[in-house]
Amino acid sequence: MRKKVIFGNWKMFKTNKEAIEFIQDAENKLKLPNNYVAGIAAPFTALSDLKKVSKNIIICAQNCHFKTNGAYTGEISIPMLKGIGITHVIIGHSERREMFAETSETVNEKLKSLLNEGLTPVFCCGESLEIYESKKTIDFIKEQIIKGFKDIKDSDAEKVIVAYEPIWAIGTGKTASPEQAQDVIKSIRDILSNIYTKDVASKIIIQYGGSVNPKNVNNILSQPDIDGALVGGSSIEVSSFLELFKTNEK
Ligand code: PEP
Repeated sequence: MRKKVIFGNWKMFKTNKEAIEFIQDAENKLKLPNNYVAGIAAPFTALSDLKKVSKNIIICAQNCHFKTNGAYTGEISIPMLKGIGITHVIIGHSERREMFAETSETVNEKLKSLLNEGLTPVFCCGESLEIYESKKTIDFIKEQIIKGFKDIKDSDAEKVIVAYEPIWAIGTGKTASPEQAQDVIKSIRDILSNIYTKDVASKIIIQYGGSVNPKNVNNILSQPDIDGALVGGSSIEVSSFLELFKTNEK
C-alpha cells in the first residue's frame, strides 16, 4: 500500500530562527496517522539546523544543482545536501521553471543525479492556466514526464515522488476538484505505466499540489491515485500544517 506523503513547501519564507521554532513546536505536537509521512521543504539556510532538531518530519531541500561541484556561483550541489543528511529534494517546481529557467532537460539531469546519489527526488509537473483552458493538460504533462524521466531505469523510477501541481492552482486559492486532480493523476500513472510497467507505476507516490488546506486535504487524499500533497501557504503556520494530518478516520 502506498503511503500518504504530505510535504510543506516554505519557499522563500522563514529565517533560521523561525524555522527551528516551527519544527520544534510541530515535532512536539505532531500526531502522524498510520501510513502518513510528513515533510517540510525549507530554505537552504535552515536545512542543517533543522536536521538536528527534526525527528518525524523529513527535512527536504527545495532545489539542487545536478553537478557535483564546479564554478556555479550561488548553487548548491547534491553532495553538499547529502553531507548534512538531506534525503529529499524538490525539483522542477513551477516557480523555478517559470522564474529561474528550469527546463525539462535540467530537471532530468537533477533527477538522474539525485537517484545516483541515493536521494529521493520530488519531481514537480503541472500546466499553466492557458494550457488547462485549451484542454491540453495531459499532452503537456506527458511531455514533462517523458523528458523528465529520460534514461531513468525502472528500479529508480519507483523511488521518485511525483507532485502534480497545476500552476493555476498554486497560491491562488483555486484548487482542482478532487475528481479533476484524480483524473490527471490517474493519467500520470498511466503515462508512467507505459514508460515503465504497471507494477512500477503502481509503486510511485503521486502528490497533488495547489491550494491544499486543512479543509480540502481529506477529500483530495481520498482519491484512489492521490498519495499525498505538496502544500505551500498552509504549511507556513504550525497549526495549519498540523491540521493537514487530521484524517477523517480518527
Ligand atoms: C506549492 O508551493 O507547491 C504550492 C502548492 O503552494 P500553495 O499550496 O500555496 O498553492
